[in-house]
Amino acid sequence: MLPNSSMTICLPPPTVVVGVMKFLTDHFKKRVADLLNGKDVQAIHFTCDGTTISPQGFKTVAKAIQDEKIKVVFDAKALGGAYAKYTTTTNTLTFNSMSVLDNIEGRGAIVHEAAHAVVDSLKVSTKIRSEEGAAFVAEAWYYISQGIASENAKGPKGKPFAQPPAQAMFDVADDLIARAKKGEKKVRVW
Ligand SMILES: [Zn+2]
Repeated sequence: MLPNSSMTICLPPPTVVVGVMKFLTDHFKKRVADLLNGKDVQAIHFTCDGTTISPQGFKTVAKAIQDEKIKVVFDAKALGGAYAKYTTTTNTLTFNSMSVLDNIEGRGAIVHEAAHAVVDSLKVSTKIRSEEGAAFVAEAWYYISQGIASENAKGPKGKPFAQPPAQAMFDVADDLIARAKKGEKKVRVW
């Protein structure tokens, strides 16, 4: 007969599991904040139909994530295939998983949702369509900064993005980037 000790199943106590999850979530939040505070996202600056997407806005969102004023949850089921979603009513960013940061489309989705959070943090009421347009322009601007050619709007490995931004958003972002490079302050979409 085997000694009793070999029958013992070693499971970490629940407090350890919670601690590990908190550690991983905190690390994830730090990486999201680093993305929003990084030079590529900090270069995104434009006004769209009265809504300004600014470096300061992304910084505010990054800080709100770290200060837990914006909640971070993981719920792939609730997203139905999307990478991320910002819910204004509960100030919550929902992600499909922590690996959302590991591919360019996931990071683009974070920039898009953070743009919604920027608008929300400004507490201005916007037309839904212009807010959506601004979020897509910010996302396209990020893709262009990552070297994705705007002419074909193709994702990694030559595949088109599964979701918009549509070609029009790349064109708008391309135009804004060119004008910002020429030194135009406060580039305006419409
Ligand atoms: Zn959106």
